Amino acid sequence: MNEKVIKIREYSIGIDVGGTNIKAGLLDEDGKIQLAKSIKTQKEQGYISIIKKIIGLINSYQDNEELKIKGVGLALPGAVNDEKGLCLYCPNLKWDNINISSEIENSVGLKVKLINDANAACLGDYFYGVGKNSNNIIYLTLGTGLGSAVIIDNKLLQGKDKAAVEAGHMIIEPFGYPCSCGSRGCFETLVSATAIERRYSEKQDINRSFNKGNLTSKMIFEAYRNNDILAIKTIDETKEYLAIGISNLINIFNGEKVILAGGVMHSKEIILEGLENRVKECTYPSMRNFTITVSKLGDNAGVMGAASLFFKTLKVI
Ligand SMILES: [Zn+2]
Repeated sequence: MNEKVIKIREYSIGIDVGGTNIKAGLLDEDGKIQLAKSIKTQKEQGYISIIKKIIGLINSYQDNEELKIKGVGLALPGAVNDEKGLCLYCPNLKWDNINISSEIENSVGLKVKLINDANAACLGDYFYGVGKNSNNIIYLTLGTGLGSAVIIDNKLLQGKDKAAVEAGHMIIEPFGYPCSCGSRGCFETLVSATAIERRYSEKQDINRSFNKGNLTSKMIFEAYRNNDILAIKTIDETKEYLAIGISNLINIFNGEKVILAGGVMHSKEIILEGLENRVKECTYPSMRNFTITVSKLGDNAGVMGAASLFFKTLKVI
């Protein structure tokens, strides 16, 4: 254990449960993340196995008795009710109305606070990242799906069921591709990594047989760099859909900073090129005073945002 860890007074643990990985870290009072860890979720093994992994991660930090740990912020990929300690609905994990906080609290002896994963990532950037000096943020995570969160006037929008801002499910293309939510042509079905892979393979299938199983969005961006015509068409379309979706959000929320995060943004130089100008063209004239930027917290945004719940007195929660 390094000396720095021992010197600092208080910490909180952040845990970000995703469909593929469970990420964890120890956040100090100064907003520094330490001892970051990532393990496979293996969601097919079910709820009990995942809970054991979460508890195991928490215990691994508790093993150092010199650390004063205030609690655990737990980010989940779905709707949560923190007051009741419930995971209301996490479709990706097939969790429905689960009393998760008390189960973990009873096992580890620490207070657990729940938060939606996109909200957590948004708070991570709002407190510690590129959103630090902005009061009005529109946050989009372009990964397997499309996560979203909005902060207006320093308040995280939550709504009646604390489920507000599922921007991934605004319908952008009527009669479009079926979405997991039951609608068609949702924003998520057009700009997520999965959507990029699907739309490229649809174009390619016209020309030759194709093994979709091997395709990743990373490969498509690589093909774009190598002037592959179908990749260029796919990515250009993606950017147009992205511009429309972002401008819709700005027109509603009057954001000042759009923060993009997630795996797709590993190719940020391609996504960002010309994007801000195109979004401005689509946006109501009085609301064109905004910037689009990319999160620099990487995989830590959700962990930091979840852990921040023990350090920040929020108007936003
Ligand atoms: Zn949808």
